[in-house]
Amino acid sequence: MDSRILNEYDEVMIAGLPLKDAVEKIEWFHGSLAPGLLLGGFMVDVARELLPESVLYNAVVESPYCLPDAVQLFTPCTVGNSWLQLVDYGRFALTLYDKDTGVGVRVWADVSKMDAHPKIRDWFLKRAPKKELPLETLIPAILTAGRSIFSSKSVRVSETIGVGKKGNVRLCPNCGESYPEKHGALCRPCSSGGYYQETHGS
Ligand code: ZN
Repeated sequence: MDSRILNEYDEVMIAGLPLKDAVEKIEWFHGSLAPGLLLGGFMVDVARELLPESVLYNAVVESPYCLPDAVQLFTPCTVGNSWLQLVDYGRFALTLYDKDTGVGVRVWADVSKMDAHPKIRDWFLKRAPKKELPLETLIPAILTAGRSIFSSKSVRVSETIGVGKKGNVRLCPNCGESYPEKHGALCRPCSSGGYYQETHGS
């Protein structure tokens, strides 16, 4: 990415960071400046400004692409601290919510707001081949649009989301590995099949 392009947008802030610092963070964490990370950064800002400042929030993302990394980069919520959950709805949306009350804000990329930004819309809906929308074109379009292509709504997150407390641990009588007691008499892969079959080795 030619840094001269970014120079033209040096008034843009993402998660309290000047654009250049935000881009550096994105490249370090995500490996490259993916457009979805910029969108995600703006979405986090939209959500956070609508939440009371003092609130301790959790996050849900509705797509496995880019959004998990945007939340992990620009909020304290990570998969590992269990404050970030992924529900794979395939929608480019995220919710930040008060971890005590479930009250929060859902923000989504709103195609009905992209009329003034056809390049973003064509990229977002995969209507243009990748080579027609190189980063040199797409990134400035996204930085110009800023927060204008998102919508938000107040929501209450249902209690089914969230991993809850780990609780007691026991050893699975079948495989011998430890797992949460609340999962039942056997660990989940032993009771309903796991994501792998064993091949060879020890
Ligand atoms: Zn087991």
